[in-house]
Amino acid sequence: MIGIGYDVHCFAKGRKLVLGGVEIPHELGLDGHSDADVLCHALADALLGAMGEPDIGHFFPPGDPACAGISSLRILEKCRDLLREKELRIINVDGTVIAEAPKILPHREAMQKRIGKALGIKPGQVGIKATTNERMGFLGRGEGIAAMAVAQVEDDSDIPF
Ligand SMILES: [Zn+2]
Repeated sequence: MIGIGYDVHCFAKGRKLVLGGVEIPHELGLDGHSDADVLCHALADALLGAMGEPDIGHFFPPGDPACAGISSLRILEKCRDLLREKELRIINVDGTVIAEAPKILPHREAMQKRIGKALGIKPGQVGIKATTNERMGFLGRGEGIAAMAVAQVEDDSDIPF
């Protein structure tokens, strides 16, 4: 089964920038209730979609005090737990970050490791890519960062015949 995810957060002053579970030095962070890790959120929605579950807001409602400031790696760990309950196994996940700045490539390997650890998969099963919006629209003006993702999972249960 395959799932798709998309997320966007706007930049805000006085916030840390966390992408793929990695804190990236930048003059602006992303606004949000959790750590606003737009890449992890898109990946989580892709995984939830692949297992036929509702979106991330169903499990981590915006405004829930329990979610305030949490690392979005916890959200990926929740996805991993749900997958295990359903006896599903991740084949791979793949995400694209869309931002004019900062550069993502220098942090790619660290993101693969953190996301892989949270999901219980190898770094090589985590695709991370980045592109700009060619200076067009709200992303092009540097108002925020978007991310899209896909995930593929398969049945991991023993078929009884
Ligand atoms: Zn989000």
